[in-house]
Amino acid sequence: MGAMQKVGSTLLLAGLMVSGVGCQRMMDLIRPAAPAAVRARGVVDVHLHVSPSEFDRAVKLMDEQGLAYGLNLSGTWPGAILEKQLELAEQSGRFLVAANIPWMAARRFEDFPTRAAELLKKSHELGVRALKVEKALGLQVRKPSGELLAVDDPWLDPIWQTAGELKLPVFIHTGDPKAFWEPIDEKNERFEELSAHPGWSNHDRPVPSFEALLEQLLGLVARHPATNFVAVHFGNNSEDPFWVGHALEAHPNLYVDLAARLPELGRHDAKKLHELFVRHQDRILFGTDTGLGPEGFYMLGSFGEEPNRAEEVGPYFQAHWRWLETWDKQQPSPTPIQGRWTIDGIGLPAAVLEKIYRANAERLIGRPKPQTGSPTAP
Ligand SMILES: [Zn+2]
Repeated sequence: MGAMQKVGSTLLLAGLMVSGVGCQRMMDLIRPAAPAAVRARGVVDVHLHVSPSEFDRAVKLMDEQGLAYGLNLSGTWPGAILEKQLELAEQSGRFLVAANIPWMAARRFEDFPTRAAELLKKSHELGVRALKVEKALGLQVRKPSGELLAVDDPWLDPIWQTAGELKLPVFIHTGDPKAFWEPIDEKNERFEELSAHPGWSNHDRPVPSFEALLEQLLGLVARHPATNFVAVHFGNNSEDPFWVGHALEAHPNLYVDLAARLPELGRHDAKKLHELFVRHQDRILFGTDTGLGPEGFYMLGSFGEEPNRAEEVGPYFQAHWRWLETWDKQQPSPTPIQGRWTIDGIGLPAAVLEKIYRANAERLIGRPKPQTGSPTAP
Protein backbone atom coordinates (compact mmCIF):
# COMPACT_ATOMS: atom_id res chain seq x y z
CA MET A 1 0.00 0.00 0.00
CA GLY A 2 1.46 3.40 -0.99
CA ALA A 3 1.68 6.30 1.46
CA MET A 4 -1.17 8.19 -0.21
CA GLN A 5 -3.43 5.14 -0.18
CA LYS A 6 -2.61 4.58 3.48
CA VAL A 7 -3.55 8.18 4.33
CA GLY A 8 -6.66 7.74 2.19
CA SER A 9 -7.86 4.61 3.93
CA THR A 10 -7.11 6.07 7.38
CA LEU A 11 -9.21 9.10 6.50
CA LEU A 12 -11.96 6.84 5.14
CA LEU A 13 -11.91 4.84 8.36
CA ALA A 14 -12.04 7.98 10.51
CA GLY A 15 -14.86 9.37 8.37
CA LEU A 16 -16.87 6.20 8.71
CA MET A 17 -16.42 6.17 12.47
CA VAL A 18 -17.60 9.79 12.71
CA SER A 19 -20.56 9.16 10.41
CA GLY A 20 -21.58 6.18 12.49
CA VAL A 21 -21.65 3.59 9.70
CA GLY A 22 -22.51 0.17 11.14
CA CYS A 23 -19.61 -2.05 12.11
CA GLN A 24 -20.31 -4.83 9.60
CA ARG A 25 -20.74 -2.33 6.78
CA MET A 26 -17.49 -0.62 7.79
CA MET A 27 -15.60 -3.91 7.72
CA ASP A 28 -17.06 -4.59 4.28
CA LEU A 29 -15.79 -1.26 3.00
CA ILE A 30 -12.28 -1.81 4.34
CA ARG A 31 -12.08 -5.44 3.28
CA PRO A 32 -14.84 -6.12 0.73
CA ALA A 33 -16.87 -9.24 1.45
CA ALA A 34 -16.53 -12.14 -0.95
CA PRO A 35 -19.59 -12.90 -3.09
CA ALA A 36 -20.06 -16.18 -1.22
CA ALA A 37 -20.19 -14.26 2.08
CA VAL A 38 -22.91 -12.00 0.69
CA ARG A 39 -24.86 -15.05 -0.40
CA ALA A 40 -24.37 -16.72 2.97
CA ARG A 41 -26.46 -13.95 4.56
CA GLY A 42 -29.44 -15.26 2.57
CA VAL A 43 -30.74 -14.68 -0.94
CA VAL A 44 -34.27 -13.54 -1.80
CA ASP A 45 -35.87 -15.32 -4.76
CA VAL A 46 -38.65 -13.11 -6.14
CA HIS A 47 -39.89 -15.60 -8.72
CA LEU A 48 -41.28 -18.79 -7.18
CA HIS A 49 -44.46 -20.77 -7.81
CA VAL A 50 -45.46 -22.88 -4.82
CA SER A 51 -48.69 -24.88 -4.51
CA PRO A 52 -50.32 -24.87 -1.06
CA SER A 53 -49.57 -28.57 -0.56
CA GLU A 54 -45.82 -28.03 -1.12
CA PHE A 55 -44.73 -25.63 1.59
CA ASP A 56 -42.65 -28.10 3.59
CA ARG A 57 -40.80 -29.16 0.47
CA ALA A 58 -40.31 -25.51 -0.52
CA VAL A 59 -38.86 -24.54 2.87
CA LYS A 60 -36.47 -27.50 2.72
CA LEU A 61 -35.36 -26.41 -0.75
CA MET A 62 -34.79 -22.87 0.53
CA ASP A 63 -32.69 -24.10 3.45
CA GLU A 64 -30.60 -26.28 1.17
CA GLN A 65 -30.05 -23.58 -1.45
CA GLY A 66 -29.47 -20.66 0.92
CA LEU A 67 -32.65 -18.71 0.23
CA ALA A 68 -33.71 -16.43 3.07
CA TYR A 69 -37.21 -16.00 1.71
CA GLY A 70 -39.15 -15.92 -1.52
CA LEU A 71 -42.05 -14.30 -3.29
CA ASN A 72 -44.73 -16.79 -4.31
CA LEU A 73 -46.18 -15.50 -7.58
CA SER A 74 -49.05 -17.99 -7.50
CA GLY A 75 -51.20 -16.40 -4.79
CA THR A 76 -54.43 -16.12 -6.85
CA TRP A 77 -57.23 -13.89 -5.46
CA PRO A 78 -59.62 -13.67 -2.51
CA GLY A 79 -62.04 -16.57 -2.50
CA ALA A 80 -59.72 -18.71 -4.65
CA ILE A 81 -56.67 -20.06 -2.77
CA LEU A 82 -55.19 -16.69 -1.74
CA GLU A 83 -56.25 -16.94 1.91
CA LYS A 84 -54.64 -20.38 2.16
CA GLN A 85 -51.46 -19.21 0.42
CA LEU A 86 -51.14 -16.27 2.82
CA GLU A 87 -51.75 -18.43 5.88
CA LEU A 88 -49.10 -20.97 4.82
CA ALA A 89 -46.66 -18.21 3.90
CA GLU A 90 -47.05 -16.60 7.30
CA GLN A 91 -46.73 -19.90 9.17
CA SER A 92 -43.48 -20.67 7.36
CA GLY A 93 -42.07 -17.18 7.90
CA ARG A 94 -40.27 -17.66 4.58
CA PHE A 95 -42.69 -16.39 1.96
CA LEU A 96 -44.38 -13.26 0.77
CA VAL A 97 -47.27 -13.63 -1.61
CA ALA A 98 -48.27 -11.93 -4.85
CA ALA A 99 -51.93 -11.74 -5.84
CA ASN A 100 -53.14 -12.57 -9.34
CA ILE A 101 -56.16 -11.29 -11.24
CA PRO A 102 -58.82 -13.55 -12.82
CA TRP A 103 -58.18 -12.24 -16.34
CA MET A 104 -60.62 -14.56 -18.01
CA ALA A 105 -63.44 -12.54 -16.40
CA ALA A 106 -62.44 -9.52 -18.53
CA ARG A 107 -64.61 -10.76 -21.36
CA ARG A 108 -67.70 -11.00 -19.15
CA PHE A 109 -67.83 -7.68 -17.32
CA GLU A 110 -67.92 -4.15 -18.72
CA ASP A 111 -66.68 -2.96 -15.33
CA PHE A 112 -63.96 -5.62 -15.06
CA PRO A 113 -61.13 -3.12 -14.34
CA THR A 114 -62.86 -1.58 -11.31
CA ARG A 115 -63.84 -5.05 -10.06
CA ALA A 116 -60.22 -6.19 -10.47
CA ALA A 117 -58.98 -3.08 -8.62
CA GLU A 118 -61.40 -3.84 -5.75
CA LEU A 119 -60.14 -7.41 -5.64
CA LEU A 120 -56.59 -6.10 -5.47
CA LYS A 121 -57.51 -3.83 -2.55
CA LYS A 122 -59.00 -6.81 -0.75
CA SER A 123 -55.87 -8.87 -1.50
CA HIS A 124 -53.75 -6.07 -0.07
CA GLU A 125 -55.84 -5.98 3.12
CA LEU A 126 -55.29 -9.72 3.43
CA GLY A 127 -51.52 -9.20 3.21
CA VAL A 128 -50.19 -9.59 -0.35
CA ARG A 129 -47.01 -7.66 -1.21
CA ALA A 130 -47.20 -7.62 -5.00
CA LEU A 131 -49.40 -8.18 -8.03
CA LYS A 132 -48.37 -10.77 -10.63
CA VAL A 133 -49.67 -10.42 -14.18
CA GLU A 134 -49.44 -13.46 -16.43
CA LYS A 135 -48.53 -13.45 -20.10
CA ALA A 136 -52.18 -14.14 -20.96
CA LEU A 137 -52.56 -10.36 -20.90
CA GLY A 138 -51.46 -9.40 -24.39
CA LEU A 139 -51.75 -12.89 -25.86
CA GLN A 140 -55.20 -14.20 -24.85
CA VAL A 141 -57.30 -11.94 -22.65
CA ARG A 142 -60.29 -10.41 -24.45
CA LYS A 143 -62.53 -7.42 -23.78
CA PRO A 144 -66.32 -7.76 -23.68
CA SER A 145 -66.29 -6.70 -27.36
CA GLY A 146 -64.27 -9.84 -28.12
CA GLU A 147 -61.24 -7.81 -29.14
CA LEU A 148 -57.80 -8.88 -27.83
CA LEU A 149 -56.85 -6.66 -24.89
CA ALA A 150 -53.58 -4.73 -25.30
CA VAL A 151 -51.24 -4.66 -22.29
CA ASP A 152 -51.39 -0.84 -22.24
CA ASP A 153 -55.13 -0.47 -22.93
CA PRO A 154 -56.31 2.57 -20.89
CA TRP A 155 -59.39 0.54 -19.91
CA LEU A 156 -57.16 -1.25 -17.37
CA ASP A 157 -55.81 1.94 -15.77
CA PRO A 158 -57.77 1.49 -12.48
CA ILE A 159 -55.76 -1.70 -11.80
CA TRP A 160 -52.31 -0.12 -12.26
CA GLN A 161 -53.35 3.04 -10.46
CA THR A 162 -54.57 1.03 -7.48
CA ALA A 163 -51.35 -1.03 -7.40
CA GLY A 164 -49.38 2.23 -7.30
CA GLU A 165 -51.52 3.69 -4.51
CA LEU A 166 -51.15 0.51 -2.45
CA LYS A 167 -47.37 0.43 -3.16
CA LEU A 168 -47.71 -3.04 -4.64
CA PRO A 169 -45.09 -3.64 -7.34
CA VAL A 170 -46.52 -5.23 -10.49
CA PHE A 171 -44.54 -8.31 -11.58
CA ILE A 172 -45.50 -8.55 -15.22
CA HIS A 173 -44.84 -11.25 -17.79
CA THR A 174 -45.39 -9.94 -21.30
CA GLY A 175 -44.88 -11.99 -24.43
CA ASP A 176 -42.59 -15.01 -24.42
CA PRO A 177 -39.11 -15.94 -25.65
CA LYS A 178 -38.55 -14.51 -29.12
CA ALA A 179 -38.05 -18.01 -30.53
CA PHE A 180 -41.69 -18.85 -29.73
CA TRP A 181 -42.65 -16.71 -32.75
CA GLU A 182 -40.35 -18.67 -35.09
CA PRO A 183 -41.27 -21.92 -36.88
CA ILE A 184 -40.60 -25.05 -34.80
CA ASP A 185 -37.67 -26.62 -36.62
CA GLU A 186 -33.96 -27.34 -36.02
CA LYS A 187 -33.16 -23.70 -36.80
CA ASN A 188 -35.26 -22.57 -33.83
CA GLU A 189 -32.96 -21.99 -30.83
CA ARG A 190 -35.67 -23.37 -28.52
CA PHE A 191 -36.37 -26.39 -30.72
CA GLU A 192 -36.03 -28.86 -27.85
CA GLU A 193 -38.34 -26.93 -25.53
CA LEU A 194 -40.94 -26.28 -28.25
CA SER A 195 -40.81 -29.91 -29.38
CA ALA A 196 -41.75 -30.91 -25.82
CA HIS A 197 -44.44 -28.19 -25.64
CA PRO A 198 -45.70 -27.33 -29.15
CA GLY A 199 -48.63 -25.55 -27.51
CA TRP A 200 -46.22 -22.87 -26.22
CA SER A 201 -45.50 -21.69 -29.77
CA ASN A 202 -46.95 -18.41 -31.03
CA HIS A 203 -45.85 -19.04 -34.59
CA ASP A 204 -48.65 -18.48 -37.09
CA ARG A 205 -51.11 -17.67 -34.32
CA PRO A 206 -53.33 -14.58 -34.32
CA VAL A 207 -51.32 -12.80 -31.62
CA PRO A 208 -49.32 -9.55 -31.66
CA SER A 209 -45.66 -9.77 -32.63
CA PHE A 210 -42.91 -10.10 -30.02
CA GLU A 211 -41.90 -6.48 -30.72
CA ALA A 212 -45.48 -5.15 -30.51
CA LEU A 213 -45.91 -6.71 -27.07
CA LEU A 214 -42.71 -5.10 -25.80
CA GLU A 215 -43.96 -1.74 -27.10
CA GLN A 216 -47.22 -2.28 -25.20
CA LEU A 217 -45.29 -3.12 -22.04
CA LEU A 218 -43.20 0.06 -22.21
CA GLY A 219 -46.35 2.03 -23.02
CA LEU A 220 -47.91 0.73 -19.81
CA VAL A 221 -44.82 1.50 -17.71
CA ALA A 222 -44.69 5.04 -19.16
CA ARG A 223 -48.41 5.69 -18.50
CA HIS A 224 -48.05 4.87 -14.78
CA PRO A 225 -44.88 6.50 -13.42
CA ALA A 226 -46.20 6.20 -9.84
CA THR A 227 -46.46 2.40 -10.08
CA ASN A 228 -43.39 0.15 -9.92
CA PHE A 229 -43.24 -2.60 -12.55
CA VAL A 230 -40.95 -5.62 -12.39
CA ALA A 231 -40.79 -6.91 -15.95
CA VAL A 232 -39.95 -10.57 -15.26
CA HIS A 233 -37.64 -12.75 -17.35
CA PHE A 234 -35.18 -9.85 -17.69
CA GLY A 235 -37.65 -7.37 -19.06
CA ASN A 236 -39.17 -10.11 -21.23
CA ASN A 237 -36.36 -9.41 -23.68
CA SER A 238 -33.29 -11.26 -22.43
CA GLU A 239 -32.44 -11.82 -26.09
CA ASP A 240 -31.47 -8.14 -26.21
CA PRO A 241 -30.28 -7.10 -22.73
CA PHE A 242 -29.01 -3.76 -24.03
CA TRP A 243 -32.54 -2.89 -25.18
CA VAL A 244 -33.56 -3.64 -21.59
CA GLY A 245 -30.78 -1.32 -20.37
CA HIS A 246 -32.24 1.54 -22.45
CA ALA A 247 -35.71 0.79 -21.09
CA LEU A 248 -34.37 0.93 -17.52
CA GLU A 249 -32.75 4.26 -18.27
CA ALA A 250 -35.95 5.68 -19.75
CA HIS A 251 -38.27 4.46 -16.98
CA PRO A 252 -37.21 4.89 -13.33
CA ASN A 253 -40.26 2.83 -12.23
CA LEU A 254 -39.09 -0.23 -14.19
CA TYR A 255 -37.27 -3.20 -12.61
CA VAL A 256 -36.39 -6.63 -14.02
CA ASP A 257 -35.82 -10.10 -12.60
CA LEU A 258 -33.46 -12.81 -13.85
CA ALA A 259 -35.96 -15.66 -13.84
CA ALA A 260 -35.16 -18.45 -16.30
CA ARG A 261 -33.17 -16.24 -18.65
CA LEU A 262 -29.53 -16.96 -17.84
CA PRO A 263 -29.03 -18.82 -21.16
CA GLU A 264 -29.93 -15.77 -23.26
CA LEU A 265 -28.05 -13.35 -21.01
CA GLY A 266 -24.95 -15.52 -20.67
CA ARG A 267 -24.19 -15.69 -24.38
CA HIS A 268 -23.61 -11.92 -24.62
CA ASP A 269 -20.23 -10.24 -24.16
CA ALA A 270 -19.52 -10.83 -20.45
CA LYS A 271 -17.70 -7.52 -19.92
CA LYS A 272 -20.54 -5.48 -21.45
CA LEU A 273 -23.15 -7.40 -19.51
CA HIS A 274 -21.15 -6.90 -16.30
CA GLU A 275 -21.21 -3.13 -16.99
CA LEU A 276 -24.96 -3.25 -17.63
CA PHE A 277 -25.56 -5.02 -14.31
CA VAL A 278 -23.33 -2.58 -12.43
CA ARG A 279 -25.10 0.38 -14.01
CA HIS A 280 -28.57 -0.94 -13.15
CA GLN A 281 -27.62 -2.66 -9.88
CA ASP A 282 -30.53 -1.03 -8.03
CA ARG A 283 -33.17 -2.43 -10.39
CA ILE A 284 -32.24 -6.07 -11.05
CA LEU A 285 -33.76 -8.75 -8.80
CA PHE A 286 -32.71 -12.34 -8.29
CA GLY A 287 -35.35 -14.88 -9.33
CA THR A 288 -35.28 -18.43 -10.64
CA ASP A 289 -38.82 -19.41 -11.74
CA THR A 290 -38.65 -22.48 -9.53
CA GLY A 291 -42.02 -24.21 -9.24
CA LEU A 292 -43.19 -26.86 -6.78
CA GLY A 293 -46.44 -28.70 -7.38
CA PRO A 294 -48.24 -31.82 -6.17
CA GLU A 295 -46.78 -35.29 -6.67
CA GLY A 296 -43.19 -34.11 -6.42
CA PHE A 297 -43.44 -31.75 -9.40
CA TYR A 298 -40.42 -29.48 -9.95
CA MET A 299 -39.99 -26.79 -12.55
CA LEU A 300 -36.53 -25.25 -12.78
CA GLY A 301 -37.02 -22.32 -15.14
CA SER A 302 -38.68 -24.59 -17.69
CA PHE A 303 -39.10 -28.32 -18.14
CA GLY A 304 -39.25 -30.95 -20.88
CA GLU A 305 -41.66 -33.81 -21.45
CA GLU A 306 -40.97 -34.79 -17.83
CA PRO A 307 -40.78 -32.35 -14.93
CA ASN A 308 -37.38 -31.65 -13.37
CA ARG A 309 -35.98 -34.03 -10.74
CA ALA A 310 -35.01 -33.31 -7.13
CA GLU A 311 -31.31 -33.95 -7.83
CA GLU A 312 -31.31 -31.16 -10.44
CA VAL A 313 -32.24 -28.47 -7.91
CA GLY A 314 -28.77 -28.04 -6.33
CA PRO A 315 -26.92 -27.75 -9.66
CA TYR A 316 -29.60 -25.29 -10.91
CA PHE A 317 -28.93 -22.86 -8.05
CA GLN A 318 -25.16 -23.45 -8.16
CA ALA A 319 -25.20 -22.47 -11.82
CA HIS A 320 -26.79 -19.12 -10.89
CA TRP A 321 -24.16 -18.36 -8.25
CA ARG A 322 -21.35 -19.32 -10.59
CA TRP A 323 -22.64 -17.20 -13.47
CA LEU A 324 -23.25 -14.11 -11.33
CA GLU A 325 -20.12 -14.39 -9.17
CA THR A 326 -17.32 -15.63 -11.44
CA TRP A 327 -15.77 -14.77 -14.80
CA ASP A 328 -15.60 -18.47 -15.74
CA LYS A 329 -16.04 -18.94 -19.45
CA GLN A 330 -18.18 -21.61 -21.11
CA GLN A 331 -20.23 -22.68 -18.12
CA PRO A 332 -23.06 -25.12 -18.75
CA SER A 333 -26.44 -23.37 -18.94
CA PRO A 334 -28.70 -23.88 -15.91
CA THR A 335 -31.68 -24.37 -18.25
CA PRO A 336 -30.32 -26.56 -21.07
CA ILE A 337 -33.74 -27.28 -22.52
CA GLN A 338 -33.92 -23.58 -23.47
CA GLY A 339 -30.81 -23.98 -25.64
CA ARG A 340 -27.70 -26.08 -25.31
CA TRP A 341 -25.05 -23.40 -25.52
CA THR A 342 -22.57 -22.40 -22.82
CA ILE A 343 -22.65 -19.14 -20.88
CA ASP A 344 -19.86 -16.80 -19.71
CA GLY A 345 -19.87 -15.57 -16.11
CA ILE A 346 -20.15 -11.86 -15.36
CA GLY A 347 -18.11 -11.71 -12.12
CA LEU A 348 -20.17 -9.18 -10.17
CA PRO A 349 -18.63 -7.55 -7.09
CA ALA A 350 -20.06 -8.22 -3.63
CA ALA A 351 -21.61 -4.76 -3.29
CA VAL A 352 -23.68 -5.29 -6.46
CA LEU A 353 -24.62 -8.84 -5.49
CA GLU A 354 -25.81 -7.55 -2.11
CA LYS A 355 -28.46 -5.53 -3.97
CA ILE A 356 -29.41 -8.15 -6.55
CA TYR A 357 -29.53 -10.99 -4.03
CA ARG A 358 -31.42 -9.14 -1.33
CA ALA A 359 -31.54 -5.37 -0.87
CA ASN A 360 -33.56 -4.52 -3.99
CA ALA A 361 -36.19 -7.12 -3.11
CA GLU A 362 -36.39 -5.91 0.49
CA ARG A 363 -36.95 -2.37 -0.72
CA LEU A 364 -39.74 -3.38 -3.13
CA ILE A 365 -41.64 -6.09 -1.25
CA GLY A 366 -40.33 -5.95 2.33
CA ARG A 367 -39.57 -9.02 4.45
CA PRO A 368 -41.73 -11.70 6.07
CA LYS A 369 -42.61 -11.11 9.71
CA PRO A 370 -40.09 -13.01 11.84
CA GLN A 371 -41.56 -16.11 13.45
CA THR A 372 -41.12 -15.81 17.18
CA GLY A 373 -38.88 -18.56 18.45
CA SER A 374 -38.09 -19.83 14.97
CA PRO A 375 -34.35 -20.26 14.38
CA THR A 376 -34.83 -20.19 10.59
CA ALA A 377 -36.43 -16.74 10.41
CA PRO A 378 -34.41 -14.40 8.20
ZN1 LIG B 1 -42.94 -17.73 -13.51
